[in-house]
Amino acid sequence: TRSLAETDPDVKAAIDRELLRQQGTLEMIASENFAPLAVMEAQGSVLTNKYAEGYPGKRYYGGCEHVDVIEQLAIDRVKALFGAEAANVQPHSGAQANAAAMFALLETGDTILGLSLAHGGHLTHGMKINFSGKLYNVVPYEVNRESLLIDMAEVERLALEHRPKLIVAGWSAYSRQLDFAEFRRIADLVGAYLMVDMAHFAGLVAAGLHPNPVPYADVVTTTTHKTLGGPRGGVILSKESLAKKINSAVFPGQQGGPLEHVVAAKAVAFKLASEPAFRDRQTRTLEGAQIIASRLLAADVAEAGVSVVNGGTDVHLVLVDLRNSELDGQQGEDRLHRIGITVNRNAVPFDPRPPMVSSGLRIGTPALSARGFGAAEFTEVADIIASALKPDFSEELADELSARVRVLADKHPLYPNLNAENGA
Ligand code: PLP
Repeated sequence: TRSLAETDPDVKAAIDRELLRQQGTLEMIASENFAPLAVMEAQGSVLTNKYAEGYPGKRYYGGCEHVDVIEQLAIDRVKALFGAEAANVQPHSGAQANAAAMFALLETGDTILGLSLAHGGHLTHGMKINFSGKLYNVVPYEVNRESLLIDMAEVERLALEHRPKLIVAGWSAYSRQLDFAEFRRIADLVGAYLMVDMAHFAGLVAAGLHPNPVPYADVVTTTTHKTLGGPRGGVILSKESLAKKINSAVFPGQQGGPLEHVVAAKAVAFKLASEPAFRDRQTRTLEGAQIIASRLLAADVAEAGVSVVNGGTDVHLVLVDLRNSELDGQQGEDRLHRIGITVNRNAVPFDPRPPMVSSGLRIGTPALSARGFGAAEFTEVADIIASALKPDFSEELADELSARVRVLADKHPLYPNLNAENGA
């Protein structure tokens, strides 16, 4: 019966400080978002107490009548949202969704073709010390050296040469749309499964602002906490013919009891994602990324050797190219942090600097769109970022830019109903 503040003032104080950090800074990590209060309420509910191994109607525990309703709602809603034949909403994370999908489709030692980590792929698409790189024979594909776009002719060449059992399409740092039909054609050419990992762009797909991979892929995995704006977690969508295999790969293959409190929060997020306000938010997300890309392509920024990978963006993020700048990724990240903007440094393809420093910044707009930012605010954010990345950066300028950041944060308060109580 005791509150968190009474039971554990140390944890409560740190949570309060994190709330203040989120409220007072501009969050532009492309994989982050702000979950609505209703989502957090479901996630912080009594469902955390319940064991429910199995699936709705087929559980290994008693007392599952209410979690069955919830999980079935989540399944039905996500199937409708993306037009999928089958869905598993139990993966605890995106990485676990990918592990389970691969576990369902592959045997150890099978060959997979995935986008190289250094060129924007995810760890789970075949990085050496990830499970995917250890269990499977990985053939990475890369982007083209000139265009920095995924080279479908190269994907086809590698597929014909290595005959993979699975082709993975999807990315963590890439700013253009993928050609799902072409991936399907190549997969069919060599008899491979096609898995699309839409973790980053799922929210755009749900809003109808990005091509939907579901009609093309055998399996589509996603996280629920990036553009989709729900709780941290994963989902696997598939053709009906693969549903049984995938369910058994998730449980008992990879996981024990599902996190029904997170499943409930996913159900709420899928409901919200089908509403008109969500489309408006995703529209502002795309618009914001385009505004930032064009500002960072302007002459005053180009003079400092700062550019944008692919010359723009079709999605929710901008990859800043610092290969020709004196500023490296670490320094760029630090400068923006100094003025209250949170981004992450990121390797760009053919990066001459080591990954811990890197020559890129990944800047995303989903979290600020969730705060209500539109074109006017993103124009101001873009100008602040551009000023911070130029060579004449100084302590005075940093103070001035921090003040402009503060004005924007105050204009669109985050979680106005939540207050840090602990004097943090
Ligand atoms: N897939 C892609 C494309 C991602 O970018 C990420 C997260 O960064 C994941 C999967 C993994 O998600 P999680 O961090 O929930 O394991």
